[in-house]
Amino acid sequence: IRKIGVLTSGGDSPGMNAAIRSVARTCAFHKIDCVGVYRGYQGLIEGDMKELNARSVKNIINRGGTFLKSARSDEFRTKEGRKKAYENLIEHNIDALVIIGGDGSFTGGMIFNEEFGFPVIGIPGTIDNDIYGTKSTLGYDTALNTVVEAIDRIRDTASSHNRLFFVEVMGRDAGHIALNTGVGAGAEEILIPEENLGLERLLESLERSEASGKTSSIVVVAEGDKTGKNVFELAEYVEENLPGYDIRVSVLGHIQRGGAPSCYDRVLASRMGVKAVESILEGKSNFMVGINNDEMVLTPLDKAVKGKSQINKELLRVSDIMTT
Ligand code: ATP
Repeated sequence: IRKIGVLTSGGDSPGMNAAIRSVARTCAFHKIDCVGVYRGYQGLIEGDMKELNARSVKNIINRGGTFLKSARSDEFRTKEGRKKAYENLIEHNIDALVIIGGDGSFTGGMIFNEEFGFPVIGIPGTIDNDIYGTKSTLGYDTALNTVVEAIDRIRDTASSHNRLFFVEVMGRDAGHIALNTGVGAGAEEILIPEENLGLERLLESLERSEASGKTSSIVVVAEGDKTGKNVFELAEYVEENLPGYDIRVSVLGHIQRGGAPSCYDRVLASRMGVKAVESILEGKSNFMVGINNDEMVLTPLDKAVKGKSQINKELLRVSDIMTT
């Protein structure tokens, strides 16, 4: 192995820059070349790349987003597209690829590896933490902190006006963000995709909290919560069934994806970059780098894609007890 390429693909997440930096510097440390590919797989197809040395990644560890840019590429879903990508890698003498992205990006990488036998290693970068084989994905911790801070602000205004707020957070298939920020910000109820707690329970819980003298309430709702109602429909439902509430809805949206990475994500990104490059140098391919029990671990990409990350159900109980 003499030259490694690195790209960011799919949705961006805080910590991607820190991971690119780590890949580039680990290459420099081991005296091999590193190439940054712009705009994910689309840039690979178009040959849009640039050599990265240890200095070209200065001052980015603290920046959100990804300076290599991310993209979704329909062309890479076609065999012709992937062939072009392969030809560009050969033309630029690149021997292996580090893919920073989510499960879609890993699926693309796996297919590419199958077709051309080209070595690939994945680094999980997504705020949802919905990837099997790692306790934490890059950007997840930062997103938790951003969301908790936002809910704290909403609570200030909620308690000034005796209001009930429904706050929608990201998570179409995974409730990690909702569950953790719900507990962290002291939400009355937390609605997630994994468990249907039922609408009755929501009403009961709100009534109980009113009877106990609470003046404001926050309900955290994951985008894909299992009640089947979106956050606006939920608010309407409560309005109809519990008249008298002053209800507001807040959809946090893309602010959750931005911002400077937390210290945890910067450290995680640095460790994942080192592990990714050193795994390639050991001849490994088709794995995803992850963290478990504070140790770096490798999971086969197909397992990472097919497996389901589990929520911590203990948190549901803790949340219940905290809202007594
Ligand atoms: P996130 O879900 O966090 O946004 P992701 O990596 O899952 O990230 P996707 O948009 O699903 O994001 O995938 C990113 C890119 O990976 C796609 O635009 C496409 O180029 C490639 N890709 C995804 N699935 C496949 C596939 N089955 N075959 C080939 N390429 C794929």
